[in-house]
Amino acid sequence: MRLVDPKVGADSRRGGAGPSDHKAVTIDGVTVMAPVHTAPAFESPYLVEKPDADGRSRIMRDGLFVGEATFPLQPKFYGLKTADGIPYSKIAVLHGRDVLATTVLQTCIRYQSRAKTCQFCAIGQSLAAGRTIERKTPGQLAEVAKAAVELDGVKHMVMTTGTPPGKDRGAAILCESAAAVKAAVDLPIQVQCEPPDDDAWFARMREAGADALGMHLEAVTEPVRARIMPGKAQVSVARYFSAFAAATPAFGRGQVSTYILAGLGDTAEEILAACERLVAIGVYPFVVPFTPISGTPLESHPAPTADFMHAILKPLARMLIGSGLKSLDVKAGCAKCGACSALSTYERSKLQEEAYT
Ligand code: SF4
Repeated sequence: MRLVDPKVGADSRRGGAGPSDHKAVTIDGVTVMAPVHTAPAFESPYLVEKPDADGRSRIMRDGLFVGEATFPLQPKFYGLKTADGIPYSKIAVLHGRDVLATTVLQTCIRYQSRAKTCQFCAIGQSLAAGRTIERKTPGQLAEVAKAAVELDGVKHMVMTTGTPPGKDRGAAILCESAAAVKAAVDLPIQVQCEPPDDDAWFARMREAGADALGMHLEAVTEPVRARIMPGKAQVSVARYFSAFAAATPAFGRGQVSTYILAGLGDTAEEILAACERLVAIGVYPFVVPFTPISGTPLESHPAPTADFMHAILKPLARMLIGSGLKSLDVKAGCAKCGACSALSTYERSKLQEEAYT
């Protein structure tokens, strides 16, 4: 979408992991992360006007009114700093309406060279621009999480990490981070990492205080994975599935999820086939439309069409409801937040349809 007033609402994000170059916007009671700094956003037919005195902005398309939007306000915790002078907003940020998100380690072994990097990822951009710090300590995360709960009412937390060189692939730092946050404040946490070398890490992360786990396939077929993320593709789809099977007993059915980016080359049928396998073992497949991020090798790659997403999300919602895996039941994380995809809206429609029949 194009914004007449780019400063409206909470700060947008540029660079970093997750929904970069986006801004949180609430439309019809649903908060989504909408691209605002990407090339397609600059050409979007949707123009969001300046908010009126009540904070409501009209959304126009070709001069016609199509709806209203509001913007979550800048969180109060952004105004605080640690004792050593680091702004809290460099330690964790607000995602969507009520999710605290942090990248515990802002560097990644996959981000060292063009030959290895995941081509959609901007994890190094926010660090290079000084908008975040490289390593968030457990103490800093606990301090910020407590403030975000008390001042802004955040409901859950996402802890992701760049992949460090060790074999645990970040599980150890996620354990110490989750434990510190849980000791400071009662906040459901999702941790996100690549499958570690040893499945014992799943029980360790759960015992440390993580309520949910994300291990993100991103693309579901080996050729697309090898092309789009040559480094990360060294961990095979088969290893992801064995890790999912090992992690689900530790976290519970529906509390392990995976992020799948639609629009990178996998067909709708391939994505749905992978989702069927995931759902069968109790893993929530969070399918998200790919959004090109400025400054990444894929910045000119087109986003998927609405028809393509519809062809995936409609049957996927049916599959999820049929098997009893609902985003509403996820304790923390991206699947619960849902702001990067329309999947939870499709789930709600499916539930309403069933209620009327
Ligand atoms: S779905 Fe995940 S990445 Fe997207 S806004 Fe929500 S917490 Fe952040």
